[in-house]
Amino acid sequence: MITKRSILFIVFGVSLSIACTLAYLRPWAKRLNVILICLDALRADHLGCYGYSRDTTPNIDKLASGGIIFEKAFSQSSFTLPSIASLFTSEYVASHKVDRIERRLADGQLTLAEVLKTNGYNTAAFIYNATQFDLAFGLNQGFDRYSIGEEADRKPSFAKTLPACLDWLKANRNKPFFIFLHSNDIHEPYHSIYENFFDPDYRGRLDNEYMASGTPFHKNNLNRTPREVKHIIAHYDGGIKYADTFIGKLIFELKQSGLLENTVIIIFSDHGEILSDRGKQFCHGFSVHDEEVHVPLIISGPQVKALRVPCQVELIDVMPTILDLLQIDRKGLKLEGRSLTPFLEPGVRNCPDNYVYAECIKGESQKEGFIDREVMVRTRSWKLIGSFWKFNEPLANYPKSVQLHNYSIISTDGKDGFELYHLENDPKETRNIYYDGPSKIKAELLDKLVSNF
Ligand SMILES: [Zn+2]
Repeated sequence: MITKRSILFIVFGVSLSIACTLAYLRPWAKRLNVILICLDALRADHLGCYGYSRDTTPNIDKLASGGIIFEKAFSQSSFTLPSIASLFTSEYVASHKVDRIERRLADGQLTLAEVLKTNGYNTAAFIYNATQFDLAFGLNQGFDRYSIGEEADRKPSFAKTLPACLDWLKANRNKPFFIFLHSNDIHEPYHSIYENFFDPDYRGRLDNEYMASGTPFHKNNLNRTPREVKHIIAHYDGGIKYADTFIGKLIFELKQSGLLENTVIIIFSDHGEILSDRGKQFCHGFSVHDEEVHVPLIISGPQVKALRVPCQVELIDVMPTILDLLQIDRKGLKLEGRSLTPFLEPGVRNCPDNYVYAECIKGESQKEGFIDREVMVRTRSWKLIGSFWKFNEPLANYPKSVQLHNYSIISTDGKDGFELYHLENDPKETRNIYYDGPSKIKAELLDKLVSNF
């Protein structure tokens, strides 16, 4: 028989249990939404909140001023597909093996979207880059909706992906949601409505039409003048400013619809961009120097306090961080990244002495049976880059090579295929001191480099 006293007891018991649960879950208790925004090819040092002199990112800066800025975040590749595969799986490229366009992320691989979907989230991706995100590559795993558009939709892209995203949100906000939103607007070829915004005095051939024509400018055009280089960089910055306006629109819409206060927004890039840093080349996917792998990473959301984190972190850290923020159990998941949630609490702390890794494929010859991979390991003070030529056959024909595990490092262009930089003295990686560098550091980094690939 249910008495009044027993009802009160039940009510009290339930209240107590809710109170306890809320206390335990605070501050990330409410089923938070997540929007993960990839600004493709945006190098970290071209955002205002990362110290850039031009006002490229007023909306991102505003968001970042109340969030966490990871000053030293690194992508796992300088190329979209492997980098995003690492982001979605929290695995290095050597683990998930999606190192080039024709590779598919194994169907058995558990992705961030799959884990969130299993945990009751509506999931959607708005990308419009059919080249790198084709269904054949398996990055769609776990997404209820996966929009990649047509090849012609690549640019402008935010103008298409953001409205599609907002429409989807209207119909799918009944449950917590996870959105992956991607923009190609900064990506080469650098044309945008902000064509002359940062270089209004330029009078030359490098207008939007020339830029959109693509190939001539981003290849190794050694005849380019310093004035032209300057103008191409202004074009790139114009693309950033254009993309930034859509971040402003997104924030406005989230605020209007009452979703902002319960949504974690993470802004990052899949890789950086060479802007004539060494010679006159533009684009990405050629190396693992910092200009190609140092990327922005900003986390904003309820209860996040404004903070700048100077420690080295990686894109593979994003997945465990999101799962921790949403209080989703990570047990049993094979994650190579580490959660960044310890950084969310303000307070002085020392950076861990961790190693970060990245790689890209520089060349391949199926006929000769080798792949040329450039790989790097980085500490806060040092960076070692190695050119690894992996052969299908034993190395009997290559007497000068050095056998290291399954890889071989052979002489290229008269060098040994190694570069060592002392980042404290040479942050732009201009002086290769591999031959003169401290042998203890070289041995330590080489050991780390080889064991991770
Ligand atoms: Zn990309």
